[in-house]
Amino acid sequence: MRSGDTLKVVPGGELTTFDREHLWHPYSSAIDPLPVYCVTQAEGCRIKLVDGRELVEGMSSWWCAIHGYNHPVLNEALRKQTEKMAHVMFGGLTHRAAIELGHLLLSIVPPNMKKIFYADSGSVAVEVAMKMAVQYRSARGEKERTNFITIRRGYHGDTWNAMSVCDPITGMHSLFGAELPLRYFVPSPVVRLGETWREEDVAPLRRTVEQHAQDTTALILEPIVQGAGGMSFYHPQYLREAAKLCREYNLLLIFDEIATGFGRTGKMFAWEHAGVEPDIMCIGKALTGGYMTLSAVLCSDAVAQGICSGSPGVFMHGPTFMANPLACAVARASVELLLQGNWQSDVLRIEKQLKRELAPAARLPNVADVRVLGAIGVMEMREDVRMEYATRRFVEEGVWLRPFGKLIYTMPPYCISSDELSRITSAMVKIAGEKELLQS
Ligand SMILES: *Cc1c(COP(=O)(O)O)cnc(C)c1O
Repeated sequence: MRSGDTLKVVPGGELTTFDREHLWHPYSSAIDPLPVYCVTQAEGCRIKLVDGRELVEGMSSWWCAIHGYNHPVLNEALRKQTEKMAHVMFGGLTHRAAIELGHLLLSIVPPNMKKIFYADSGSVAVEVAMKMAVQYRSARGEKERTNFITIRRGYHGDTWNAMSVCDPITGMHSLFGAELPLRYFVPSPVVRLGETWREEDVAPLRRTVEQHAQDTTALILEPIVQGAGGMSFYHPQYLREAAKLCREYNLLLIFDEIATGFGRTGKMFAWEHAGVEPDIMCIGKALTGGYMTLSAVLCSDAVAQGICSGSPGVFMHGPTFMANPLACAVARASVELLLQGNWQSDVLRIEKQLKRELAPAARLPNVADVRVLGAIGVMEMREDVRMEYATRRFVEEGVWLRPFGKLIYTMPPYCISSDELSRITSAMVKIAGEKELLQS
């Protein structure tokens, strides 16, 4: 094919061939990739494939598209901002989109969060949060306190430092060897949300904090829901105990709310389940309603004071596309849409339906556990799922789901109808019962 020719969008045609030969997809092989499905359009809770099939979206494009696709209000916010300016640098300049978004965010995050640092993606937000925690120490003359404590089965992103606090087994530590910083890992909490709290659950964290606080600046974790590291829901008392330990040993507490934010767990942010405020908090994913990448790191006055009162007196980070006006404008529209709508009753409705319709899966021999929190429904299988088989079967059933490891899960847009959600749950239960699903 000559350069400049338009590729034909047909199933199995030139377009998908080009994709297969040249485009790298997430966590995939560039020489022998699994099949991908070409999407031509998405609207509400439906995505349309090039062959005309329509799928019910069960993933919200990895937690992001909480209002569904092609939303007129978000489209309009983006269009209006485009007419003013798509971007200006944030060094020395500011703009209404960033200010108004910030103002809105402060009304929904923990009350002690006062300073906002906009960043490009979730992983970068985690990098920024970790840099803040280290600069905080160095400004206070505690230069030896540079390490981090975290809990196992966490997921915090794919960049170098974010990766270092991901679970060392299910994460990627073994691939990157000695250059990856070594963090202090504590077993992940055992007591589930809804179970009776047991004091001993926090004992390993206490031991690690006692032992390593002197060279550690912060505890970083995902509150209540451990997302991509295992999709598990733990007891809020764990967070209260963790916060107590942090206060006692003068550790900063960092909450990664990139997946849990904006209503997904039934609360606006997951810290509300425990009533525990962090010192630093990362948000991302659903921030723009799935329109584009944007994240933010928020911190308390005390943290900002600490960082900026020592030397060099400034925080050393500044992305080129910091506070991108298009992203900020859509984010503001998305948060407003959330606040003006009925997200709480939507999420509650989804939660009830997921509980009711996924319950039968618990009796299937392939299924080890079924759990639901807010608009998150999880089936944990006894063994790893064959991704290609599962994805193909879900597409045949008219739904879009992307399992990983042993987990088949859904976190649909909040506007999903009960019929659409039933399509998803019935496909999940049906395919969970198929013997070809598992590796062995
Ligand atoms: C997805 C995710 C990240 C990384 O965000 P990216 O935008 O993919 O870089 C970090 N932390 C948590 C909890 C996440 O779910």
